[in-house]
Amino acid sequence: SARNPGETEFIQAVREVAEVIIPFNEENKKYKEANILERMCEPERAVIFRVPWVDDQGRNQINRGFRVQMNSAIGPYKGGLRFHPTVNLSILKFLAFEQVFKNSLTTLPLGGGKGGSDFDPKGKSDAEVMRFCQSFMTELSKHIGGFTDVPAGDIGVGGREIGYMFGQYKRLRNEFSGVLTGKGLQYGGSLIRTEATGYGTVYFADEVLKAHGHSMHGKVCAVSGSGNVAQYTIEKLLHLGAKPVTVSDSQGYVYDPEGIDEEKLAFIKELKNEKRGRISEFAGKYKSATFYKELTPWNAKIDLAFPCATQNELPDYDMQTLIDNGCIGVFEGANMPTTEGALDLIRKNRILFSPGKASNAGGVATSGLEMSQNSMRLSWSSEEVDKKLKEIMVSIHENCERYGRIDDDYVDYVKGANIAGYVKVADAMLAQGHV
Ligand code: NDP
Repeated sequence: SARNPGETEFIQAVREVAEVIIPFNEENKKYKEANILERMCEPERAVIFRVPWVDDQGRNQINRGFRVQMNSAIGPYKGGLRFHPTVNLSILKFLAFEQVFKNSLTTLPLGGGKGGSDFDPKGKSDAEVMRFCQSFMTELSKHIGGFTDVPAGDIGVGGREIGYMFGQYKRLRNEFSGVLTGKGLQYGGSLIRTEATGYGTVYFADEVLKAHGHSMHGKVCAVSGSGNVAQYTIEKLLHLGAKPVTVSDSQGYVYDPEGIDEEKLAFIKELKNEKRGRISEFAGKYKSATFYKELTPWNAKIDLAFPCATQNELPDYDMQTLIDNGCIGVFEGANMPTTEGALDLIRKNRILFSPGKASNAGGVATSGLEMSQNSMRLSWSSEEVDKKLKEIMVSIHENCERYGRIDDDYVDYVKGANIAGYVKVADAMLAQGHV
């Protein structure tokens, strides 16, 4: 922490990994002697830049842009761009650090990075978002490329923003390349990429349940968030016969004891993706639902929790409530939504738990599949991509189980994911010398 003052989220992410890797290194001295863990905590490069743009009133606006290139030992940097007013260096370093382990787990040749800006897309016109994206890409284009760094979306960066940034990159470079993933289907995007993070999270949760003698069918589920990951988590839960009963956004959550079915989900997708409205409108439309202002969904009586909004959204007191209400599993769709205190309770009570770096890896894995399709200049069908996604999630689960099994009845997936992700990157770093 002396080297990274005030970077609380980054230090939290490193501590969670170090607790597992330091003892592992004691038994595997080659990694310890080469200082691999310490090297992995230092980004290979981080750029911070000015993003000037003009709003609809003709006023000059300034935001801060970032790209953290954390580790390229096993492939080009890969990780999303986040546009949200809370974005800062600590948050992007934690996300980039997690991304290194996650990308290693996918079995694909992807290094780790993350970037974004403190720009807030909420309330901005399409034209303002476009001018911002063009200005952001004007600088970012100097640092990325198909063989160097391939960004994707994250909070506040969906299909619209990726399209504007791709267009600007193409103008600047005069080349049509796979420099971003999450692209539209007309210009190099992959089928199932939009669905992949949510679908993958539920595929992973299903594997965890099966490995512990449970099934997804009939389980009552709390989902937080109502963006990309939350929407497709709900969709896949419905496919597998579970019953999602909550969704949320930054203003509060809705609880619908009758369950969110396909029709209600279609309403949420239109509300959030097209109209860019507030989730409270769900309770206005459906009488069975209630909106709870400024609260999170964790006091509903549910079997499984899927935090799919943002970091540190599930603290210890909410985890205690979930346990008291009979919750048996927490599966992270978001990155690091569970606090360290909540994680202690999960371990003590042997709650089934998957860390985001394992369970939400389906998004980046499918981005990797988009890169492969771009390189080969062909497109796979939905069924093909979905099959590959499922196989990847099953193989991540097996790999985590291998390193994380505690006894016959319980797997510690945090331990499993950290060691499995680490070993591949560490071996590549050893092979490449002191880089
Ligand atoms: P979106 O922007 O599509 O949705 C984010 C959702 O979370 C919105 O409902 C938003 O509410 C809510 N939210 C965001 N910030 C906060 C906050 N500070 N407090 C409360 N609610 C908040 O993002 P994604 O669905 O893409 O991302 C969600 C999470 O999943 C993030 O942690 C991201 O890093 C992670 N993730 C995403 C991947 C992807 O492929 N998209 C891949 C892997 C991980 P509101 O509408 O009010 O802003």
